[in-house]
Amino acid sequence: MSHELRWAVTDGPDGTAAVVLPDDDASARRLAAQAGGLWCAREAGGCGGELVVVHGRGVPPTLRHTGHTACAFGRGSRSAGPAYDHLRYRPALLAWLGGQGHRPRLCTVPDPGGHTGLHVVVDEVGAALEVQLAPLPDTAWRQRDDGLRRQVGRVTWLHGPDADVTAATEASVRGVSLALRRHDRGLLVGVRDADGRTRWVRLAACRLTADGVEAPGVEEARAVHARRTAERRVAARRAARRATAAGSLAGQLPLWPLPSPL
Ligand SMILES: [Zn+2]
Repeated sequence: MSHELRWAVTDGPDGTAAVVLPDDDASARRLAAQAGGLWCAREAGGCGGELVVVHGRGVPPTLRHTGHTACAFGRGSRSAGPAYDHLRYRPALLAWLGGQGHRPRLCTVPDPGGHTGLHVVVDEVGAALEVQLAPLPDTAWRQRDDGLRRQVGRVTWLHGPDADVTAATEASVRGVSLALRRHDRGLLVGVRDADGRTRWVRLAACRLTADGVEAPGVEEARAVHARRTAERRVAARRAARRATAAGSLAGQLPLWPLPSPL
């Protein structure tokens, strides 16, 4: 299937300032004029080539490579949107970590569907952030989670809009999970509890420590989950004791005298 190219970066071939081309000609012209250049982002898997806006009659404007280099986002190739998506989370995420004095190491996580995620390691606190933007089956999530925990001490998943199912799974298993959404130029973090309630806070209200991401509501959600788990354990032990008692009681009951053989 052919996809029109509508994505670019404005800060050079290796840049990360991603933009999507507006639907109307006037806005697209304005964007191109203000940007001072549009490039096919290498960080999104593109070729780094220069792009120009192409206007057509009755169709939304698109971007075209100026050269003839082979590119993943050339004519008739896959959509650039999912591949560029992580770039829209990066600046705010890195600014947030930098503001806390961290020096994060960041790499992209490829996805079979082309919806690239992010893996961010902060060595100072021995913690990693996993920005999951593509949907991820539960088994794959558990596998990756186990692997990451063996490598880095503490892993915090930040689930994007398409990874909502994984966010629900993690919340039911651990009592809390964190969602990540873009909002204006910043990011919002959704603290989801085991009952499926989500409380949204600005990323600026959160901190990364050796315990992972501290966000308002996380501790409460964990405490509720720990209490319920403990209650369930007590209830299970009680039920097991009752079953054992009933069993031993049954053993002590006198047996009816067997009828003597005739
Ligand atoms: Zn390209």
